Amino acid sequence: MSARLEAAVPDSRLRVTIDRPPSSAASYVLYWMIAARRTHHSFGLQRAAAWAHELRKPLLVLEPLRAGHRWAADRHHVFVLQGMADHARRLETVGVRYLPYVEPRPGAGKGLLAALAERAAVVVTDDFPAYFLPRMLDAAARRLPTRLEVIDGNGLLPIRSTDRVFSRAHSFRAHLQRELPEHLARLPSPDPLAGHELGRARVPREVLRRWPMATARELRAPERLAAALPIDHAPAPVALAGGERAGAARLARFLDEGLARYPEQRNHPDEDAGSGLSPYLHYGHVSVHQVLFELAAREDWSPAQLGPPQGGAREGSWGTSEAAEAFLDELVTWRELGINYCTHRDDADRFEGLPAWARATMAEHACDPRPELYDLGALEAARTRDPLWNAAQRQLLREGRIHNYLRMLWGKRIYEWSSGGEEAMARMIALNDRWAMDGRDPNSYSGIAWVLGRYDRAWGPERPIFGKLRYMSSANTRRKLRLRDYLARYGEAP
Ligand SMILES: Cc1cc2nc3c(=O)[nH]c(=O)nc-3n(C[C@H](O)[C@H](O)[C@H](O)COP(=O)(O)OP(=O)(O)OC[C@H]3O[C@@H](n4cnc5c(N)ncnc54)[C@H](O)[C@@H]3O)c2cc1C
Repeated sequence: MSARLEAAVPDSRLRVTIDRPPSSAASYVLYWMIAARRTHHSFGLQRAAAWAHELRKPLLVLEPLRAGHRWAADRHHVFVLQGMADHARRLETVGVRYLPYVEPRPGAGKGLLAALAERAAVVVTDDFPAYFLPRMLDAAARRLPTRLEVIDGNGLLPIRSTDRVFSRAHSFRAHLQRELPEHLARLPSPDPLAGHELGRARVPREVLRRWPMATARELRAPERLAAALPIDHAPAPVALAGGERAGAARLARFLDEGLARYPEQRNHPDEDAGSGLSPYLHYGHVSVHQVLFELAAREDWSPAQLGPPQGGAREGSWGTSEAAEAFLDELVTWRELGINYCTHRDDADRFEGLPAWARATMAEHACDPRPELYDLGALEAARTRDPLWNAAQRQLLREGRIHNYLRMLWGKRIYEWSSGGEEAMARMIALNDRWAMDGRDPNSYSGIAWVLGRYDRAWGPERPIFGKLRYMSSANTRRKLRLRDYLARYGEAP
């Protein structure tokens, strides 16, 4: 194994799930792009390119988009398709063959990966710990005829570098403060395809006949393509453009114009000072390493400036500006806390996965009278008697997002209006995964579980319905936050 291949990905990010030697008679190296949907800052693509170089074989990139999963819907499809258009352009420029497969009906793509893998020396793919991807990776590991490597580029901390499941942000932050310096010494290259000159992979005609790829023209009209598919059309496409180019532009704008306001204004819906990066991070159009690179360039920062471990305290560990530190705490501590849970437990989206004290307090208050009991349809249609909650739900329906602070309130009120925690959890997941552009993510399940006590502590005084769960109310939220413009924009039509 050459130094280039060894250096491509740290061992802590590499899982060989089918351990066979690469076949020298094969036609290409296959990169199966399923989570890190980008052509830059990608350990997966970097590993695949290094294998291609090692074996002197062309690289083939397959990016599938399935029709048959539970929440397949227009707005998500369009976002991913916009990313595929970027990849087609970029990979064409560097001479790498790219196969954008858009499944025309559930199950139609079955057999495509195996057919391509038959001619592959190695298959390299992305690790991702949520939604249907872990099951899909397990199935591939049982069936493929070739070497299969699963590469983790999810976070700054490799997801399998510890078996420990962290129950609080504080202990996880302390762990990060101790462990990150080692992992920040090995970052992915901004351009994993630099210097790649191995020719175009040849794909048998019968494969392309049976599984036709999306054309450049189809990718240029993603709304039309999605509308023709048997998926959920109610979540209509949103104004937010998907793809690595749109993601990079949003990141640059946030760092230039938004970051300085972030600590002071993030909580106020009228200021809307969040980065808006979560959909790009979810689909892999933006990588957390890329965010760190860009932030470091603007702050003139390097990992050498990391402060000493602070025992889990929030301030002082990054050695960046205060604003960057506040942002990094969300991006790294909170985001990777949810990734940590999903990696090691399979109950992230289940009531049984909540802490015992939270389940007990909800059980004790299960019979408390609720102020209202709405059904899922009323919630989904934003038809409650709480104008602030309705406004948040309308933002979700229209834009596929809810302002960060209001998202917590949104969840707390769903709990209050449901028969118990189990029903509340199922409803939050259904609404969030169906409508939110960043849904189906480890963060989705950690955010929803947070509403019901995960990563939190028991609070007093004990209250009706909530028991010891942290309480939030619309009245308090209205008092604390600047909301006038938000309510004007998403409030009831006059
Ligand atoms: C009920 C509920 C549901 C949620 N569902 C999702 C979801 O489906 N997908 C999702 O990505 N986040 C979810 N969150 C977490 C949080 O609301 C969003 O990550 C954040 O609002 C995204 O906006 P932003 O990109 O502007 O965040 P910024 O404030 O700019 O933060 C930067 C990044 O840090 C991460 N981050 C920020 N806040 C949190 C948090 N509280 N927990 C974990 N990571 C965080 C995200 O990756 C985010 O993109 C949920 C929270 C709650 C309370």
